[in-house]
Amino acid sequence: MHEIRNYINGEFVEPQAGGLLDVYEPATGKVYAKCSASDAQDVELAYQAAASAFPDWSGTPASERAGVLYALADLIDRELDSLAIAESRDSGKPVSVARTVDIPRAAANFRFFAGAILHSESGFHDTDGQAINYTLRKPRGVAGLISPWNLPLYLLTWKIAPAIATGNTCVAKPSEVTPMTASMLGELATEAGLPAGVMNIVHGLGDPCGKAIIEHPNIPAISFTGSTGVGQWIGKTAGAKLKRVSLELGGKNPNIIFADADLDDAVETACRAGFSNQGQICLCGSRIIVEASIADEFVARLVERVGKIKLGDPSEVQTEFGALVSSEHHAKVTSAVHKARELGAEIHCGGESFTPDGARCGGGYFYKPTVMSGLDPTCEVEQSEIFGPVVSVTSFKCEEQAIEIANGTDYGLASMIWTSDVSRAHRVAAQIEAGIVWVNCWMLRDLRTPFGGAKESGVGREGGTEALRFFTEPKNVCVKL
Ligand code: NAD
Repeated sequence: MHEIRNYINGEFVEPQAGGLLDVYEPATGKVYAKCSASDAQDVELAYQAAASAFPDWSGTPASERAGVLYALADLIDRELDSLAIAESRDSGKPVSVARTVDIPRAAANFRFFAGAILHSESGFHDTDGQAINYTLRKPRGVAGLISPWNLPLYLLTWKIAPAIATGNTCVAKPSEVTPMTASMLGELATEAGLPAGVMNIVHGLGDPCGKAIIEHPNIPAISFTGSTGVGQWIGKTAGAKLKRVSLELGGKNPNIIFADADLDDAVETACRAGFSNQGQICLCGSRIIVEASIADEFVARLVERVGKIKLGDPSEVQTEFGALVSSEHHAKVTSAVHKARELGAEIHCGGESFTPDGARCGGGYFYKPTVMSGLDPTCEVEQSEIFGPVVSVTSFKCEEQAIEIANGTDYGLASMIWTSDVSRAHRVAAQIEAGIVWVNCWMLRDLRTPFGGAKESGVGREGGTEALRFFTEPKNVCVKL
């Protein structure tokens, strides 16, 4: 059986204590690989490699660092098919989604930050002719990077790329649920010419492996994407040591649809925003808030559209909707819908597991795309993140009420507004408590923009200039004239 080892100092090594974790294929429910169950000793080894590589890498000209990142992006393109197959097998997502979204976006992350460091600027201030001030920005050292299972390679590279582009070295930990593509990235990094020790990847459970990264006394910057609960613990722990922390956490994103919206587009996108990657994208629009005058028509059209999604074995090219990532997650989604039923929700479609045709997927973790309505916006199901293929529809009578419902959770990651009234779009966008507002679209990304959440969806922002700032320490130099 394939064994996924840590990538430390440019080599694949066994975990010090020798423990291994099972890696399941969500489509079949069977173990298909083993991965290192690393602990604090492995994190220390990775840290030592990263610390040794830091002086040379941080002193390497930006153009050379960029060259290695561009080479790595090209290799990800070359390996598109094998990476997509691995990512689909690891996560249960359709291979077509991995091939068109996750893997190309991972390559784009390296290209974007390779270009960004060649064009970045730092500040200069003329102080009334008495002094000049300028700001030097230096890499912070060894960065700790931790990512979740839903977009495994994409989110890991979203952290690794800006960290190493700016001259840091890193200790990165992918989710233990989906470790395969991170391991393949190690091989490609070596081939691209990334010096040993610049990028180190340790595999293992959140506790002890991730915890050891957070608690490491000499890792000054932590970039974490994952659940709000773990993020809150990281905030406390890293905060006590005054580490720089970026936390990208959960969401319960509102999708507001006004009666004057282009309904064809709104229905199509609500379906995509609800059920892409089986609803396991932090940016998914899980709360649809629709104007009362069109609510019945909207639900009918959405249910009709959802009925056309091609459910099936994620390894088959025509499949649009595959398996949930794990049996634990399948149980969580099942239990949330059960709770919704108890609270009086009307289930318009889905609300149950399914098994794709053929013998292969009998033990897989499949759950149908589910549309429900009739819940009180303040109830537990409407307040907690399900992170699965479940959308709930609520209606509103006026703009103020739509905004109140949209803002009525502790989360504030992303949101959508559908309207043909430009003034209303701007007015409502300004009042939504979320880091991202999409108007008449979803998931259109410009990597230069700040990315991240408000309220309990996170602290700090990633993307473009924000990431370049996060991974560098500013130093002001004041020179008297
Ligand atoms: P999770 O918090 O359980 O795990 C995320 C990562 O943290 C994993 O690598 C895990 O091993 C590690 N971890 C767990 N406990 C840890 C600890 N004590 N110390 C250090 N590391 C620890 O989240 P998940 O279930 O993998 O991912 C789903 C969550 O991620 C959802 O809440 C989703 O909304 C969120 N998410 C957010 C974004 C965003 O950009 N805001 C993007 C994707 C996913």
